Amino acid sequence: MSKHINKDMNTHYAKYKDTIKKVARKHYRKRVKWLNDHLANEVCVHCGESENACLKFYPHDAEIKKNTKRVGINEESRKEILKLMNDSKVVCANCWIKLDNDLIEFDDNLF
Ligand SMILES: [Zn+2]
Repeated sequence: MSKHINKDMNTHYAKYKDTIKKVARKHYRKRVKWLNDHLANEVCVHCGESENACLKFYPHDAEIKKNTKRVGINEESRKEILKLMNDSKVVCANCWIKLDNDLIEFDDNLF
């Protein structure tokens, strides 16, 4: 009995796997776009780099990206991510590495 159900589920999954994947990708892109839209007006606070692909949130980048990928972009999760963004400074990848190695320091008066 349970074997039969499993087989049915597998068939169902196989049949819709491509659709599920497509929808997941679509939602993923939507969330990434939301994040990129948010970065569109930001520049690296240290050197002024404006290329979205180079920008990260310091120090909460990993958490922001993780939440952006995991949660649906509803009001509640946006609030959570926005709070992390507000607690972060936008830096480019180069400045991130410099920061991480204590090669540069932020003057808190700048923010
Ligand atoms: Zn920079």
